[in-house]
Amino acid sequence: MYLEELFGLKGKTAIVTGGGRGIGQVVACGLAKAGAEVVIISRSGAEETVKLIQEAGGQAYDLRADVTKEEEVDAAVAEIVKRSGKIDVLFNNAGICIHKGTLEASIEEWRSVIDCNLTGEYIMARAVGRVMIEKGIKGSIINMASMSGTIVNIPQWQASYNASKAGVIHLSRSLAAEWIGYGIRVNSLSPGYIATPMSADVPQELKDAWEPLMPMHRMGTPEELIPAVLYLASPAAGYTTGTDIIVDGGYTCI
Ligand code: NDP
Repeated sequence: MYLEELFGLKGKTAIVTGGGRGIGQVVACGLAKAGAEVVIISRSGAEETVKLIQEAGGQAYDLRADVTKEEEVDAAVAEIVKRSGKIDVLFNNAGICIHKGTLEASIEEWRSVIDCNLTGEYIMARAVGRVMIEKGIKGSIINMASMSGTIVNIPQWQASYNASKAGVIHLSRSLAAEWIGYGIRVNSLSPGYIATPMSADVPQELKDAWEPLMPMHRMGTPEELIPAVLYLASPAAGYTTGTDIIVDGGYTCI
């Protein structure tokens, strides 16, 4: 009972962007198991995730929106307020990565990564923060960063991704300070390498190069991120804001 009060999300409405697959899908299921009604936002829909949650006895629906497009985000957030009445938690997870050297990547590629990972999280946080403030909700915003916001991955080059995630960490601190008076907590999550469709596209020789650099000699699983998100989303983290939680199997500490 004590743990349920601390970490439970019964009666809460949580948005997960990019919850149609990968980390977002697994974390959406975790939030639903903790009692939250989960709303998934992605461009191509998340029927599979909604089905998984409903089959397990949870509540979920999905909406289509591109997080880089303010008008689509505003329409989705308005729809959530209409259907669910409120928003308590935002897991700002949608993101993309392009592996290319700086001299090979185009400016359009740089812009597309910054636009989705940094500006997209800003647009989502702003739309949801506005609702929380208007309704007096003491909510929690969890922005997906990465260990790449702290260290430079090798041997692949991905300057746009690394810069976007460093931006997410400081955006989170900035919003935490700006909205602390409203009781809204804003934190970021920085995973190490996690096995998902995003990382499945990575060539095997690159994964072989990562293996000796990972202190645990394995990638993490999306399930291993659920506890950190649950903590940040729940009353357990009532005194935690403006911080970055690194879940990377020790990668950044050596
Ligand atoms: P996936 O590629 O598996 O999933 C990304 C999700 O984001 C998809 O559901 C996709 O849905 C959605 N998405 C992408 N662009 C947009 C957009 N413009 N608007 C709305 N939704 C969008 O990625 P992962 O699960 O691996 O990664 C999730 C997050 O975790 C990302 O932010 C990533 O940077 C971060 N991360 C991942 C790590 C890893 O090793 N996998 C490590 C550290 C951080 P759709 O295409 O339908 O829109």
